[in-house]
Amino acid sequence: MRMRGRVALVTGAGSGIGRATALRLAAEGARVACVDRDGDSAEDTARQVRGLGVDGLALTADVTDERACARLVETIVGRFGGVTAVVNAAGVRSDLDAAPPPAEWQRLLDVNLTGTYLMARAARAALIDAGGGTITNIASIYGVVGGSLSPAYAASKGGVVNLTRQLAVQWGPAVRVNCVCPGVIETPMTAALLSDPAWRETALRRYPLARFGRPEDVAAAILYLASDEASFVTGVALPVDGGYTAA
Ligand code: NAP
Repeated sequence: MRMRGRVALVTGAGSGIGRATALRLAAEGARVACVDRDGDSAEDTARQVRGLGVDGLALTADVTDERACARLVETIVGRFGGVTAVVNAAGVRSDLDAAPPPAEWQRLLDVNLTGTYLMARAARAALIDAGGGTITNIASIYGVVGGSLSPAYAASKGGVVNLTRQLAVQWGPAVRVNCVCPGVIETPMTAALLSDPAWRETALRRYPLARFGRPEDVAAAILYLASDEASFVTGVALPVDGGYTAA
C-alpha cells in the first residue's frame, strides 16, 4: 500500500497506460481522479478504481485548455482535500509521416508537450500546499532517440524529457518531477501499427527482451517514481523499453 493516504490525478486515464496507472495507484491505496477528454472512458476507469475499495472520481477535460486544468485541480482539492501525485498520461500519436504538415505538428505539440506543462502548472500550488508531491510525465523512447514515428511526435516527447528536468530543478524540493520513456506498448494508441505483421516483426528485432510492453509495465515504473521509494529521485527520464535504447 505504497500510496495510502495519497491523492492521484491521472490524465489520459480512460485508456491504455493512463488507465493501468490509475488502477495500479488505486491498488496501492491512492484515491484517484481519472481525467480524460472522453468522459465515458474516464468514468469506466473510476468505476474500476472504486471496485478496488478506494475512492475514484471521473472528470472530463482537455489538457490543452488552461482553464479546464485549473478547474480540475479545484474540483479534486474540494473532493479529496488535496493532490499529491500528478501523472500526465494524456497524449496523441501521429501517422508515420516524415514531414507532417504544420497543423499536425501543432496538434502533437499542443497535447503532448503543452498539455503536460499546463496540467503540471495548474497542480503546482496544490502539490506544494499538500506539503510536497510528485509529477510523473510520459515521454517516449522517441524523446531520446530518433525513430520511425513523426518528427512532431519525437519533438513533443523530447520536449517532455527536458521540461521534466527543468521543472525538477526549479520546482524542487517541494515537488519531484520525473518522466518515463516507454518503448512500444500494446495500447489502443499502437493497435493499428501492431496489427501490421511486417511492422511488428521488424520492430521486435530491436527489443532485447523480445516483446512489446504492456501498460502495466509502465504503470509499475510510474508507481515507483510517485512513491516514497523514489524520494531521492527527481529529474530522471526512466526508460521502460525492453532494452530498446540500450541497443
Ligand atoms: P491511449 O490508449 O490512446 O490513451 C491516451 C488517452 O489520452 C486517451 O484516452 C485519449 O483520448 C486521451 N487524450 C488524448 N488527448 C487528450 C487531451 N487533449 N486531453 C485529455 N485527454 C486526452 O494511449 P497510450 O498508449 O496509453 O498513451 C499514453 C501516453 O503514453 C501518451 O502520452 C503516449 O504518447 C505515451 N506513450 C505511449 C507509447 C505506446 O507505445 N503506447 C509509447 C511511449 C509513450 P482519445 O482516445 O480521445 O484521444
